[in-house]
Amino acid sequence: MDTANFELLKKELAPFGARLIAVSKTKPAEDIQKLYDAGQRIFGENKVQEMCDKQAELPKDIQWHLIGHLQTNKVKYIAPFVAMVHSVDSMKLLAEIDKQAAKHGRVIDCLLQIYIAREDTKFGLNAMEALELLGTDEFAAMKNIRICGLMGMATNTDNEQQIGEEFRSLKLFFDNLKVAAFKDKDYFREISMGMSSDYKIALAQGATMIRVGSMLFGAR
Ligand SMILES: *Cc1c(COP(=O)(O)O)cnc(C)c1O
Repeated sequence: MDTANFELLKKELAPFGARLIAVSKTKPAEDIQKLYDAGQRIFGENKVQEMCDKQAELPKDIQWHLIGHLQTNKVKYIAPFVAMVHSVDSMKLLAEIDKQAAKHGRVIDCLLQIYIAREDTKFGLNAMEALELLGTDEFAAMKNIRICGLMGMATNTDNEQQIGEEFRSLKLFFDNLKVAAFKDKDYFREISMGMSSDYKIALAQGATMIRVGSMLFGAR
């Protein structure tokens, strides 16, 4: 692993004020330590067990972001330390995060994963489902989670115009939700979109967090 791309990404992010989530899934702790030593503090993982193992081994001021699909029965393992869950895609999952966070006296920051791609994927809420969730009494009663924004993944395609449109739709939905449900909530401010192949398009469309793996750590 070479930190040249890390320095490059930092320069590219600066004008946008966006943050880098270094996606370290499948990569060894040594690689993470190297990027940590270069100054990176936010790392993204998509598997609970792997994130727990790395969290135990690596510096305690790392902020661990869960970016992959999260099963309800695994929330308890990450609840003590996870900094943000990007992949909330059901009320059942959100309720479990709230419950486990309460056990640890924490408030866990979450993003709603919104389905924006034109391809079949199993995960994510559509706009109506997200609005519905946010309108329930059950959501209003949750004290140990905070919805800080939205996450989305574009279609896996070379068509940059299509990717741009998909990211733009996430930004538009974010803007509408901000007004409809989070008007005076300063913490509702994150749009997590863009990976190694499309982060430049995401930044142009308003990403506040990009999730970059292979460009930093090499192919998996
Ligand atoms: C793996 C992954 C990424 C990073 O992908 P790269 O192409 O390696 O940059 C971003 N987001 C999610 C949800 C992922 O699973």
